[in-house]
Amino acid sequence: MLALKSVTQSYLPTPEIQRIFGIFHRMVNDCIDIGLSYNVTALKRLSTLSWPQRSKYECPSYYKACAVSRASGILAARKKSLIRGKSTKNPYSLKPQITACRGFKINDGVLRIPVGKGDFQYILLTKHMVCVLSDPTLTVRSFTLTPSSLSLCISREVAQIECTDTIGVDRNLRNLTVGNRDRVTQYNLSEGVRIAEMTRDVVRSFKRNDFRIRKKIASKYGRRRRNRIEHLLHNTTKRIVSEALQSKHAIVLENIEGIQGLYRRGNGQGPRFRDRMNRWNFHEAQRQLEYKARWVGLPVIHLSRTQTRGTSKTCPQCGERLQEDRKIVRKLWCQKCSVMMDRDVVAAVNISRHGRLRFDRSRAQDGLEGRAVEAVRGNPTPTVILRVDALKSRNRLSTEDLAEPEP
Ligand SMILES: [Zn+2]
Repeated sequence: MLALKSVTQSYLPTPEIQRIFGIFHRMVNDCIDIGLSYNVTALKRLSTLSWPQRSKYECPSYYKACAVSRASGILAARKKSLIRGKSTKNPYSLKPQITACRGFKINDGVLRIPVGKGDFQYILLTKHMVCVLSDPTLTVRSFTLTPSSLSLCISREVAQIECTDTIGVDRNLRNLTVGNRDRVTQYNLSEGVRIAEMTRDVVRSFKRNDFRIRKKIASKYGRRRRNRIEHLLHNTTKRIVSEALQSKHAIVLENIEGIQGLYRRGNGQGPRFRDRMNRWNFHEAQRQLEYKARWVGLPVIHLSRTQTRGTSKTCPQCGERLQEDRKIVRKLWCQKCSVMMDRDVVAAVNISRHGRLRFDRSRAQDGLEGRAVEAVRGNPTPTVILRVDALKSRNRLSTEDLAEPEP
């Protein structure tokens, strides 16, 4: 299968590149106007309709072709929103950007892009970029330039790995819990919550009575927050994927779309709690896991919403509905097995089991041996012991806290 990824570096645009920014921007917006007036989103039709307009611009034809593709993407996103019943503004390309999939060349650590007839601009690639591109199995598919960054889209053909078991990933605000019946690991992400809360307090403390300056500084802090939290997540997802690759486990993801609908005004939750939950970027972990797993050839199994339902409320050992413990946070009690369990561990084990069922079913269809392990009443499985993210000892939770049989 084909795996895609991108690498980014920063650079300084020359006046020539800035001129192309302007042309590309105008071309995209012309195409959007034409698409709106003819009610067209399809790339081919839009390309034919907008050609008389695009052909007037003075720039290499690679950009003319990519401008219409970008416009078609923007129009398609608008159409999707309209179908879902969301109101949209008239679309418009705001940010200066150039994308092209042809016409560029990489040689000796320098990217050469065309800006006119026989006229080229050269961008020096960083050491990291050259190191990534040195892999001979890679293909560079396109480049994207913004006023501050250069990003190359790279692809490679990978063979899918035959997995023996599955691991479930339970995404929570303060941790990622990963594992199956045999072993569960919890990766602590409370640092991300702390960063988000601190950023909010810092931005709130700005007293300067100048809207423009305040906005500028606030957006700087917002960028910093995003970068720091993403860095934390990248480290975690990288380790999850490499461990899954080592033990040949397919990754199972739950479907928690629409979770933020649970934290609206009037739901009986405090403003601080709602603020925290609505700030949480639950999709980012999924995005990173998906592309990183694909890059190494690990299969990712997506559970449906029905399969996700109740994963943190069902006992992984007997299938009973678990009782919430009012006194201890995130602990659940199974009456039948007399076991106190951690909510996140329960979810991870249940998710991995649901994935395993799907996995076995598809293997059975392929004629391979399949062994379904559904938690039914009276089907004993050993108690899972949580292995907490070992490297971060200061964030370590004691294992006795989690998944410990009641004496
Ligand atoms: Zn039980």
